[in-house]
Amino acid sequence: MVPDEYLTDVELNTLKTLVNDRLGALAEQARGAVRAYTEVRDRDADPVDSASNETDLAFSQRLGERDRKMAQKLRHALERMKEGEYGVCERCGDAIGYRRLLARPVATLCIDCKTTTEMLENPGRRKRT
Ligand SMILES: [Zn+2]
Repeated sequence: MVPDEYLTDVELNTLKTLVNDRLGALAEQARGAVRAYTEVRDRDADPVDSASNETDLAFSQRLGERDRKMAQKLRHALERMKEGEYGVCERCGDAIGYRRLLARPVATLCIDCKTTTEMLENPGRRKRT
């Protein structure tokens, strides 16, 4: 047993700030994407610009989809912090670990369960041991 694998209050607060910052950045980005979309629509009358406008539009739509999913995961992380479940693997109940959470604050599985899940999802890529 490694006692410092579970999060301390200071570590939890650091991660909470990290998650909140990322949510704030996504909100900023979403506002930017909406602005870009409006600009593209307003310039639509100009046939010279239409090709690059379509590319811009496709890009901001893809960005929106990916960002929505990330925002959902970040909000889920905040909920788990409130419930006191954050940093604990949803599958086996082990600590996910502070370093892993710093790199990926939306992680809900420990590295062992994550590896197992990926092996089940991609049987062709089974790791040989
Ligand atoms: Zn686990």
